[in-house]
Amino acid sequence: MAFMRCAGMSMTSRDVSDDVDYIEPPTKQQFVDMCNYLHTLMKEFHLSDFDARISPHHCEAGYVAEVDTDFRYRKVVIALCPQFYTFEPPRQRTILCHEIGHVWCTCLKMPYEGLKEVVSADVWTITETNAMAQEEHMVTGLEWSTAPRMPLPGAPRRVKK
Ligand SMILES: [Zn+2]
Repeated sequence: MAFMRCAGMSMTSRDVSDDVDYIEPPTKQQFVDMCNYLHTLMKEFHLSDFDARISPHHCEAGYVAEVDTDFRYRKVVIALCPQFYTFEPPRQRTILCHEIGHVWCTCLKMPYEGLKEVVSADVWTITETNAMAQEEHMVTGLEWSTAPRMPLPGAPRRVKK
């Protein structure tokens, strides 16, 4: 499994404050609608063969989202911050597109994932830190270029003819 934790490039610290006592959790219907929306986006990203889920648990405090991907077994779980359901639909779309971008990037990790066992801890830390930083750049670029073209949450589904 490949795991990424995203602070969200366009987020401010206020948006992901740890003070979340006042935030209502999503209703069951909101959660189901967001799961269905995730499936719509996965299809748009040509990843519809994945078992894609939104975690019932929040991501770590201070982050916008986390994504855990198993590219070989085609599974992805996205955990969202408690504030996610208070964001406007375009921002929700951007966050999910960003996380789905990480799913595609997971296959880039495969060539070096065995390195950890054969290099020193320092070399591994440098390799992993640089690779994760580059992945964030790539995924942010992907997010910027794809999210505006994707349907918004709550938008009517495209009907296949
Ligand atoms: Zn990210």
